[in-house]
Order: sequence, then structure tokens, then C-alpha cells
Amino acid sequence: MNILIVGSGGRESAFAYKLAQSPRLSKLFIAPGNAGTGVYGQNVPLKVTDFEGIATFALENKIEIILVGPEEPLVKGIHDYFLGREDIKHIAVIGPQQLGAQLEGSKDFSKEFMFRHNIPTAAYKSFDKSNLEEGLTYLETQNLPIVLKADGLAAGKGVLICETIENAKDELTAMIAEAKFGDASSVVVIEEFLKGIELSVFVLTDGNSYKVLPSAKDYKRIGEGDTGLNTGGMGSISPVPFADETFLSKVEERIIKPTVEGLKNDNIPYKGFIFIGLMNVEGEPFVIEYNVRMGDPETESVLPRIESDLLDLLEGVAQGNLETRSYTVSPKTAVTVMLVSGGYPGDYESGKVISNIENVKESIVFHAGTKEVNGEVVTAGGRVIAVTTLQNDLFSALQQATADAGRIFYQGKYFRTDIGFDLI
Ligand code: ATP
Repeated sequence: MNILIVGSGGRESAFAYKLAQSPRLSKLFIAPGNAGTGVYGQNVPLKVTDFEGIATFALENKIEIILVGPEEPLVKGIHDYFLGREDIKHIAVIGPQQLGAQLEGSKDFSKEFMFRHNIPTAAYKSFDKSNLEEGLTYLETQNLPIVLKADGLAAGKGVLICETIENAKDELTAMIAEAKFGDASSVVVIEEFLKGIELSVFVLTDGNSYKVLPSAKDYKRIGEGDTGLNTGGMGSISPVPFADETFLSKVEERIIKPTVEGLKNDNIPYKGFIFIGLMNVEGEPFVIEYNVRMGDPETESVLPRIESDLLDLLEGVAQGNLETRSYTVSPKTAVTVMLVSGGYPGDYESGKVISNIENVKESIVFHAGTKEVNGEVVTAGGRVIAVTTLQNDLFSALQQATADAGRIFYQGKYFRTDIGFDLI
């Protein structure tokens, strides 16, 4: 079977690594991929939102399944585009159609969905230009801190946690009246603050049945001890020690089942991954957010733990018989450490030559922001490489991943040495 992965980050590298292991894979393509994905398949210089280009390529190369990595093409309707054209609608797209992608694309939509289906989440109210005054008054009745969320996609920056009512009022006004996050903040969700520990649970569904993928925890801040600016993610671990069987069965009964059922009852077709961002509040799970794709760097920790053939699972999604596919998970612990460019998440330089990758023997090296220039691999983004190791216990995995992250060189390299240490 020929498969095309859409995307270019560490997540797509992990998909490529995993699919390349399938005995049923004929040809693997990655559009556009990076300097590392070429090891597993063939990179194709196409933009993730070039639907026409992707369609032409898919037809010419007899692609049967397109696996979409990032949210942008999903929210922009890549799946709908394929369904809407007679000549390509036989090609399966893994990732929801535009309507389902609203679970990530609109916070207001996802909060309404959760309330409609009795899925535990923080109390909220949405406001826009027409009722901004009401929103300012509403803030006065709320406990602190209080969370303000731009309704639309804002590159992970559209969520503000305000410690005073004055600050919350200023921010609400800036978001709605002054378009602080552009169109994304024309609607703002004001949400109750939940105190707890965050983790993520991933689900693969064909719209009827589902498989619960390994849970993971990511580390968002740039600095050791989870301090400093937010990033796209500095590392992840899987499984999450505090997500024991009791907790995960609550997640399945109260969140996963009603989510998949809710999509069905609302006539929202959904074939793909659901990433559920959770807050564990004294042992009770609450949904913080849905994403309609896998996380990065969580994918780099989650996929190496899946023992089953990912191609087989994707085929099950495409054919609507996921239930019949075998699915097993390794009990080992995966730790992913992200190597970033010096200065990230602020300004950073690119084009630094990366060396010594070949001396990493005990971990998997997933390229993220890299490209090949004149036969050399150079940095080409903020997050450069994800190093993942799989070991019998968390402590050994932390040590191994950190040691291997230290083995790779490029000018300005930075990584956190404390990924997962808070959980030991
Ligand atoms: P990202 O792209 O980082 O996933 P996002 O823009 O989609 O972010 P959310 O995930 O909804 O937004 O929120 C970002 C972060 O803000 C969460 O990971 C969490 O740490 C914090 N947060 C969001 N909602 C709440 C809440 N109700 N209570 C406490 N913290 C919250």
C-alpha cells in the first residue's frame, strides 16, 4: 500500500518511522518532510495546504491513504476537498472533515459540544462584540485566576490566565475590541480555572469504534523546572505515572465514549486522531481542549510504544472496521527530549550544521526543523530534533534520552535535562 504523510515536523518523522516498519507498506511519501524523513520514504516538495498539488501527486502515485499531521490543512478542509472530487474521493484521508476539525478550530464549538454531551470540562461563557459589556460585568462575578481563550487558532498563544479582574477586563477588551489575536479573538471563551496536573490522552477512531492510544505528558516551557516562555513542546513522556488504571477508566467512560458517541449523534463524521488535553483535578479528569490530530512532541513518545502495525490501524480507520484490528502497547516507558535552536522560542538563527547523529545508538532520532543543504543536515526551525528512548523504567529512560540528546551537536543547541524528573 502507498501512503502519503502530510507535514514536516517531529510528529511526521515519528509517523514515517512507524509506518516504515509495516510489512504491508509499498511506498511512503512525506509532503514536504524534512532532512530525516527521507530515510523512511520519499520527500515531496508540496505545501501542506496545497490541496490540488497533493491530489495530483496522490493520483499519480496511487496513494491509498493520506495521513494528515498538522491541524492547518484539516481546519482548512483537506478531507472535504478529497470527498468533493469524484476522481480522488476513493483516497482515504486520516483526519476529520472541516466540521469535526472545529473541535480544535473553535473553542466555543468544542465547549458547546462538551456541555451538550455532558463531558466534564470547566464552566464557561462566550462573548463577542455584541455583548462585550456583559462580558466585563460577568468577569466581576468570577473567581480568580480566570482563563480567557481566543475562540480561533492562535498558534498556542491565545490563552491567557489572568490573576486580577482589572487585568482580565483589559485583556477581554483587547481581544474583542482591538483584535489582539486578529479574527481568532473576535469571540472569547471565559473559563473557570482548573487546578491540577495536565496530561494528554490520544484516541484513534473510525467514527464508530476507537482505540485508546498511550497517554503522554508534555513539557511546554523553555526552562528547567517548567519555567520561562511557552514553546511548542520541549519533551514528553509516556506512559504518565499518575494516570493509573482507575483514572484512565474514568477518562474512557466519562470522556472518550461520550466524545465518540457525541460526534456520531451530532452527525459529525470523524476518521482520525483525537488528542484530548486533560486536567487531573484530585483524581477526576476534566477536558481542557480537543485537538484533531496527534501532538508534537507527544507522538514521538506515543508511537514507539505501539507494538501493532500502524498501517493496519489506519486501514481500519479508512475502511470503518477499526474494531477488528489488533492493537497492543508496550509496557515500557518512552521519554522524548527536544533539541531546539539557541534563542527559541524567541529569535534564533537557522542553517547550523548538525553533526554526530550517527553516534546516537540507544535512542531514535526524529528530525523536526532540519533540512539538507549541499549534502549536510542543517537546522531549519526552532525545534530541531526529538530524541526518544524506550526503557523499562522512567528513570533509565530519562537518563538515556538526556545522554543521547547531549551527543548531537550544532551551534546554539539547547535542551532541557529535566524532562519527566518531576514524576519520579
Ligand atoms: P496549545 O496550542 O498550547 O495546546 P491552545 O491555544 O489550544 O494551546 P489550551 O490548550 O486550551 O489552548 O490552553 C493552553 C494552556 O492553558 C493549557 O495547556 C493549560 O495549561 C492552560 N489552561 C487552559 N485552560 C485552562 C483552565 N480552564 N484551567 C487551568 N489552566 C488552563
